[in-house]
Amino acid sequence: MDSRQTLNDPPDVPVVLAIAGHDPSGGAGIHADIEAIVSQGVHPATAITALTVQDTVDVRRFVASDPQLVMDQALAVLEDMPVGAIKIGMLGNVALVEAVATVLARYPEIPVVLDPVLVAGGGGPLADAAVAAAIVEHLFPRATIVTPNAHEGRVLAPEARDLQERGAMLSALGAEYVLLKGGDEPGEKVENWLFGVEPPRRFVYERLAGKFHGSGCTLSSAIAGLIAQGSDPVNAVHEALEYTHQTLMYAAAIGRGQLVPHRLFWADDDGVTEMSDEPPGSSRVH
Ligand code: PLP
Repeated sequence: MDSRQTLNDPPDVPVVLAIAGHDPSGGAGIHADIEAIVSQGVHPATAITALTVQDTVDVRRFVASDPQLVMDQALAVLEDMPVGAIKIGMLGNVALVEAVATVLARYPEIPVVLDPVLVAGGGGPLADAAVAAAIVEHLFPRATIVTPNAHEGRVLAPEARDLQERGAMLSALGAEYVLLKGGDEPGEKVENWLFGVEPPRRFVYERLAGKFHGSGCTLSSAIAGLIAQGSDPVNAVHEALEYTHQTLMYAAAIGRGQLVPHRLFWADDDGVTEMSDEPPGSSRVH
């Protein structure tokens, strides 16, 4: 029997819809999402929320997309494909947050990975306080998992006195899980904390030298890709952290600024390298 799929077969390729901004450097944003989702063996569909002007050093400006256009892009995908998870990245204004919330309300069963992007890797703003508040109000309650870095965690839960309190406060905002990342904190180790499990779980990595452009996009998209394949969120976080750490170990100084994660490292060496291969000098700590 011919095992090739025909036009009439049901699709067996899982799909992630990434709703995020475009970064012309290819380090972060939708490029990062596409590469990370492909790396999980998942089809990446996209809706573009903004065009940014930036390089690997910092963001210069951005133009937010028309909210109706973003809704139409997302709905075109959702009405056409069996989307297994939605990843949300940069949303440049309140109208876009509301538009995305409207789309999500029509598909309450689809898991949502929300990366509450507020700043670019170089520190330049990609959202203001009103956007942060709208994300909390409209998107947190709908999220399966939110993935703030330390800076975003402080902005979103300003009253918290320490990390544990911050995790608890962010969890109380309605997402099932909160992954509080520590890549932007000082220290020899990078500590990432997952809240929503009891007790909260810590994932520790040796800090790699250099600053990275698009590590958060990579991680959240990999989580979405794994969830779209049926992984439970806790396993998805663990596997996606391992994958992201590898992309950082293979990161390259392509521009003058932050290093660009090598998300397709597994395709090097004539395609014979497996994703599970340890990169040279791997320094994971568990
Ligand atoms: N989304 C867009 C469009 C960006 O340009 C950036 C950073 O420049 C980000 C998200 C966040 O990047 P990171 O993964 O480094 O936090």
